[in-house]
Amino acid sequence: MTKKRRNNGRNKKGRGHVSFVRCSNCSRCVGKDKAIKRFTVRNMVESAAVRDISEASVYSVVRVRSREGRRNRAPPPRVRWKDGKKVNPAVAAAEEAKAAANKQ
Ligand SMILES: [Zn+2]
Repeated sequence: MTKKRRNNGRNKKGRGHVSFVRCSNCSRCVGKDKAIKRFTVRNMVESAAVRDISEASVYSVVRVRSREGRRNRAPPPRVRWKDGKKVNPAVAAAEEAKAAANKQ
């Protein structure tokens, strides 16, 4: 008889016997050296539910701060709108200070 594989599709070298494992899909009994191990990670929640969960979650990491920066409990600067455009709060504050200085 011709031989398809020199190792008979298994990895039993120098071993007389290998223990069997049962297939999780069809319960077939195969040698452990012959069994093909597959590990699949499936998403437990469908994509529609992911949004609900993320909305229900309170905490989300937006950015990382330094150890000293984390002591700062002040709320983040509010987004300022000027003529339908986002304005950098630091820039807006600087412009306000400049305008106040010009008035005097
Ligand atoms: Zn099977």
